[in-house]
Amino acid sequence: MKRAIYPGSFDPMTLGHLDIIKRASEIFDVLIVSVLNNKEKTPLFSVEERVIILKEATKDLPNVQVDSFSGLLINYAAEKDLHIAVRGLRAITDFEYELQLAQVNRLLSKGELDTVFLTTSLEYAYLSSSSVKEIASFGGDISQCVPDFVAKKIYEKFNAKR
Ligand code: ADP
Repeated sequence: MKRAIYPGSFDPMTLGHLDIIKRASEIFDVLIVSVLNNKEKTPLFSVEERVIILKEATKDLPNVQVDSFSGLLINYAAEKDLHIAVRGLRAITDFEYELQLAQVNRLLSKGELDTVFLTTSLEYAYLSSSSVKEIASFGGDISQCVPDFVAKKIYEKFNAKR
């Protein structure tokens, strides 16, 4: 069984993330999408809310599981006996950061955790959670960026803040 983990902030999950999830779930037997509980960032959605969104969006993908973790990815991966991380690459700007992260993870895990990259589908190359939040905060149209049920939740958050 080839199992992989797709870690990220997913604050919130976009159609770009979902595209990577679908494609990775066709490559691996089991894909665990795991939300990082990053204490340094102030998120729009709590970890629990982000997990609920991911579960709803992937409910028709039987080999996708959703979880969350805190701390170092290598520790979580070791606990779960996972040896492959999936990450997405949109542009050269992602590359430097992702390369460094992948190399640090490989080094710290003593070669136990390798990273596999999937390149974005071109229609999502521009898409990031932060741009979606920024557009929504000004009441802009995010219907091409996230599933409808997620757009609704994002607008609810911003309306509650007003
Ligand atoms: P992180 O804070 O860990 O970068 P993100 O939720 O922003 O978490 O992203 C998780 C992963 O998904 C990263 O590898 C990122 O490059 C990738 N990703 C984000 N948006 C897209 C997209 N539109 N297409 C492909 N990959 C993406």
